[in-house]
Amino acid sequence: MPEAKALSEPQKALHKLGLTRDIDLALHLPMRYEDETRIVKLRDARDGDTVQIEATVTDSHVVYRPRRQLVATVDDGSDTCVLRFFSFYPSLQKVLARGATLRIRGEIRGGFAGWHMVHPTFRAAGGPLPDSLTPVYSSVAALPQAYLRKAVVSGLSRADLTETIPAEYLARLGEAWTLRDALQFLHHPPPDVPLATLEDHTHPAWQRLKAEELLAQQLSQLQSKREHERLRAPAFSLVQGGLHEQLLAVLPFQLTHAQRRVGGEIAADLGKPVPMHRLLQGDVGSGKTVVAALAAAIAIDAGWQCALMAPTEILAEQHFRKLIGWLEPLLAPRGLRVAWLTGSQRKKERSAMLELVASGEAALVVGTHAVIQEHVQFKQLALAIIDEQHRFGVEQRLALRSKPNSAIAANGPPPTPALPLKGEGECQPHLLMMSATPIPRTLAMSYYADLDVSTIDELPPGRTPVVTKLIADSRRDEVVDRIRAQLAQGRQVYWVCPLIEESEALDLTNATATHQQLTEALPGVVVGLLHSRMPVPEKKAVMSLFTGGQMGVLVSTTVIEVGVDVPNASLMVIEHAERFGLSQLHQLRGRVGRGAAASACILLYANGALGETARSRLKAMMETADGFEIARRDLEIRGPGEFLGSRQSGAPLLRFADLATDAHLLEWARRLAPVMLDRHPALAAQHTGRWLGGKSQYLKA
Ligand code: ADP
Ligand code: MG
Repeated sequence: MPEAKALSEPQKALHKLGLTRDIDLALHLPMRYEDETRIVKLRDARDGDTVQIEATVTDSHVVYRPRRQLVATVDDGSDTCVLRFFSFYPSLQKVLARGATLRIRGEIRGGFAGWHMVHPTFRAAGGPLPDSLTPVYSSVAALPQAYLRKAVVSGLSRADLTETIPAEYLARLGEAWTLRDALQFLHHPPPDVPLATLEDHTHPAWQRLKAEELLAQQLSQLQSKREHERLRAPAFSLVQGGLHEQLLAVLPFQLTHAQRRVGGEIAADLGKPVPMHRLLQGDVGSGKTVVAALAAAIAIDAGWQCALMAPTEILAEQHFRKLIGWLEPLLAPRGLRVAWLTGSQRKKERSAMLELVASGEAALVVGTHAVIQEHVQFKQLALAIIDEQHRFGVEQRLALRSKPNSAIAANGPPPTPALPLKGEGECQPHLLMMSATPIPRTLAMSYYADLDVSTIDELPPGRTPVVTKLIADSRRDEVVDRIRAQLAQGRQVYWVCPLIEESEALDLTNATATHQQLTEALPGVVVGLLHSRMPVPEKKAVMSLFTGGQMGVLVSTTVIEVGVDVPNASLMVIEHAERFGLSQLHQLRGRVGRGAAASACILLYANGALGETARSRLKAMMETADGFEIARRDLEIRGPGEFLGSRQSGAPLLRFADLATDAHLLEWARRLAPVMLDRHPALAAQHTGRWLGGKSQYLKA
């Protein structure tokens, strides 16, 4: 009905929940079930059960103490039960009049004083009982369960549920359920099925759905990977005596074995005329920046441009300074420069930089997402490097990859194609993403299946392990003593206050108070304050005092800006550590221990505020300093959402499958996906369409 009248409230709510197609409704599975198939005798009820009884009202009256409430007593012939209503319309008294016979449903509680229920639901007794469990769906206020149930029933009856998975693969999974049967079953299970197997998704019908879902994910990722492989990019080979070699020679250190290995993987990608799509992961401090700079050198050697993007100006500037230090002396004799682009730049400076970028004189462009704005025109961008990739949005990453490139467009095929080009693919820059949050293997295999991954699994030598201490907030004085001791040795200290997103004001009060307190406690020491709402120039001024060593203590709310490299800092104090995520804590801890000095991280926690998850996070921090182990535990504690960063905004998270328990289904889907794309492309398309609808393009970012 394209000409439909304005949508009703429940219809609007359906759309909001993404339940627009019949298949969406069919795949909207119950969170739980209610058993309305049986009438229970009170004598057989158990404390805490949700039960349905049929009983006659024997007494009903309003009492006023301790609170106004309507109290009714009912009798089902086996026992009696007291019903309590704390809010009620006068009409309720009529319905619950003595002698009325009702079907009553609610959570039953029993003690010495007999059974009672608070705010049960009820209707007239008699009438047929349903023959399957009643599904309860996740919904919103504007969408009543009854409406949603009907919508699901009709969606289920109309949806196209033809088989998309080749029979031999279903057999391999030991799967006897068809999709239709599985859905029918899960929406309306018979009363005798063990509820636990439905609720923990271990029932075979659930297995079928999880397999389907994982297959859709693998298909869409593999498809995007293949589309990607049809694109073209300039291919580079290492130049003897070129910039790459020169950069290696001027570095004040030897590369670690791991850095050399990943450098080789990246160089191999750059040697192919297909755009690289690689994630470089390595723990904080593992030395990703220099690997990125070496990759840039390869492209610059061949006469192309590189862009390096960081999520904040502070980080971007840090890269900029380092890269200038390393590269500028080498670029200058070639007539090349490093350009700098950020949002807060003055117009004049900015246009000068834009010109450098457009003319190609800037071989390397460093900045924030300003680098990918429309009017930034590269002469010939060959390599885009994104630091802290998970902090960028999907759209921003897509924008970078599709950055128009005048030279490639104008000059046709890229120079030095080492391999024959496949078809008439579009030309794109190579893409290298960097992240300090390692992705656990199961995630890499599922959500990031379209990415190649390189891992730096070794820290540069000479790092002293950071000692982690858990200290109650009531012992702040001791912490201040430790700070004093560090300062006396010429060291510097970070003090991080939590960012409470709902309340910037509160953050600020908290950080300001701490700043004040430390300033008073440490006379003669420069104590700085950095918070999220400060204008960028002010932030920069504070940061430069700290990196320059004039500032002894830096109090900060802006966790992300602390992604800086100050080797002289030896103590990290994290206030309200219980409020931070595990990966965040690990990242913060990684800011110290970068120099030779013995370093420590103090996790301050508020007494009595430690919940179960907070406790397990802090425990993990105490027990391990290994980024991979931390990531694994974080996945365990929080589920995959946090790792995906921006991916989760566009790409649906797996709704049904759980990577922790469904690894065998994931393996199965990984094996099947290429077979389907090769031999059953129509079925593959039908399958992804069914599961992902229009959302699949987001998975490619
Ligand atoms: P991250 O991987 O967290 O981005 P950085 O690239 O900022 O780490 O490197 C952390 C510090 O280690 C920097 O000061 C960098 O110059 C230094 N570094 C990098 N590689 C090595 C190495 N092989 N040996 C010694 N120091 C190194
Ligand atoms: Mg870094």
